Amino acid sequence: MSATLIDGKAIAAEVLAEVAADVDYLKAQGIEPALAVVLVGEDPASHVYVRNKVLRAGEVGIRSLEYRLSVEASAEEVLEVISTLNDDPTVNGILVQLPLPAHIDENRILQAIDPAKDVDGFHSENVGGLSQGRAVLTPCTPAGCMRLLRNTIDDLRGKHAVVIGRSNIVGKPMAALLLAADCTVTVLHSRSSKPQKLCGQADIVIAAVGRPRMIDAEWIKPGAVVIDVGINRITEGGRSRLVGDVDFDAVLPIASAITPVPGGVGPMTIAMLMHNTVTAARQQHGLTAHRESY
Ligand code: NDP
Repeated sequence: MSATLIDGKAIAAEVLAEVAADVDYLKAQGIEPALAVVLVGEDPASHVYVRNKVLRAGEVGIRSLEYRLSVEASAEEVLEVISTLNDDPTVNGILVQLPLPAHIDENRILQAIDPAKDVDGFHSENVGGLSQGRAVLTPCTPAGCMRLLRNTIDDLRGKHAVVIGRSNIVGKPMAALLLAADCTVTVLHSRSSKPQKLCGQADIVIAAVGRPRMIDAEWIKPGAVVIDVGINRITEGGRSRLVGDVDFDAVLPIASAITPVPGGVGPMTIAMLMHNTVTAARQQHGLTAHRESY
């Protein structure tokens, strides 16, 4: 047996096509969705992420605004930009690219974003709403994983899902979304005892650890669906390459479906950011959704 590949690029393209249609619909109502991206400092990876987000926004018809601040910018300067964007009715989504320079308290900045414009879903109003099962703006990577799962599994209800990792941006919101989808959820972390045994009972495995190829064949029940969130750069045979948290070659013959790295979860994250921007724009104008979220 060999697992089916879950094609994140193709599913992300479907999401982006839906978003583009939603943007057209909003424009026909006189609303031009807009996303503001705030970048502080010179981190090269952050610059690449921001460039990709701006490019993708343009492709689906979302207007984007970029605010670049120097690495020496104070928290107050960043807060001033956020306050201006919060007050601007033509801006629907605000994203502050993380990480911020060490002298700035990330949480203070994230809490300053209007929750209705918080397209990353990191404000505690949205985090709390997610854990209460309310329809709120949801972190993009776990939302993307849900879309991959819904495309792969007909009925998620009652499935045992194991999430490996409990970060605020991936593991915890992932667990909340799976619970809202009526899965039975186990969350593993660095202090879990017998993690391999627990993972081996899962129908669905979400790996969000940040350790190259940690999850090998011994962790996976035959027929499980495996979503690999990890992005790890390693050097192998003198070449630099990206690998996931799952040992893809070892798990391929055991799982029923698996995401590759790259080309699995990665493309979904940015697609869900566009989806959140359109959702935010729609909600700010009191319009209801005309399709299911993810
Ligand atoms: P964090 O470092 O914030 O969290 C890692 C989690 O893994 C922690 O909860 C940690 O436990 C847990 N962990 C570490 N070692 C073990 C272990 N041996 N056994 C079980 N659990 C362990 O990472 P993120 O959540 O931010 O990211 C996880 C991965 O996903 C990274 O590779 C990152 O690059 C990738 N990522 C990919 C995205 C995408 O778009 N595809 C987006 C975001 C992240 P503890 O809490 O106890 O320390």
